[in-house]
Amino acid sequence: MSTLEIRDLHVSVDTDAGAREILRGVDLTVRSGETHAIMGPNGSGKSTLAYSIAGHPKYTITSGTVTLDGEDVLAMSVDERARAGLFLAMQYPVEVPGVSVSNFLRTSVTAVRGEAPKLRTWIKEMRTAMDDLSMDPAFAERSVNEGFSGGEKKRHEILQMQLLQPKIAILDETDSGLDVDALKVVSEGVNKVKASGDIGTLLITHYTRILRYIKPDFVHVFVDGRIVAEGGAELADELEANGYDTYVKAAASA
Ligand code: ADP
Ligand code: MG
Ligand code: MG
Repeated sequence: MSTLEIRDLHVSVDTDAGAREILRGVDLTVRSGETHAIMGPNGSGKSTLAYSIAGHPKYTITSGTVTLDGEDVLAMSVDERARAGLFLAMQYPVEVPGVSVSNFLRTSVTAVRGEAPKLRTWIKEMRTAMDDLSMDPAFAERSVNEGFSGGEKKRHEILQMQLLQPKIAILDETDSGLDVDALKVVSEGVNKVKASGDIGTLLITHYTRILRYIKPDFVHVFVDGRIVAEGGAELADELEANGYDTYVKAAASA
């Protein structure tokens, strides 16, 4: 049983015009087994939240706390955060030319588990995980994210999640750029990983459609760097019908 706790988190980013506050007091608790959807308009700070938790150097935490089972996440290096059980699937995964998917994943798994998996069991483990995600075995020998389609990039992220078995997974717009078939495969993959462990999931999305396949226990509406409304899955249906307009207007006049 794990708990990620975010308290009054304020985050700034350096711009040419100086530091700009993006997150303006975020409170959120994610426990093992729970699925939280963070939904909000573009530019509201959703990715900033994900990157801040993962430890991206571009973002400065100006106040607030993030803890995982009571441990200070903000004091950890990026590697330590991964070893502690945090996983971030990025909205825009980076290319790593010359490094195969297989080697990349084995290196990640070694870093997180603290020892390298034996080569034979590793190949088997990776093949099984790839099969679960309907991935062609040849995919393992391609360079990471190089020339990957949108669907392949996302599948590769979920493959990492499956192999790393994090305590808390943050999936940033895992649905973006996917057609319906790819969305289904990726969602089923996420659901399988979630079922295989007791993972707490923070699912960040702009659109409601992924929530048809991955059912959230909690929905948080994110506007202008803050959570402005919270509810259960029914809140996603309301957003689907009415959009973010009323929330954006209310936040602007607050
Ligand atoms: P979302 O993921 O909700 O679309 P982001 O977190 O990507 O929102 O961005 C929130 C705001 O912060 C936007 O106005 C964006 O331009 C700004 N921002 C985010 N990251 C940076 C950065 N590295 N440099 C400058 N501005 C940034
Ligand atoms: Mg956010
Ligand atoms: Mg984003």
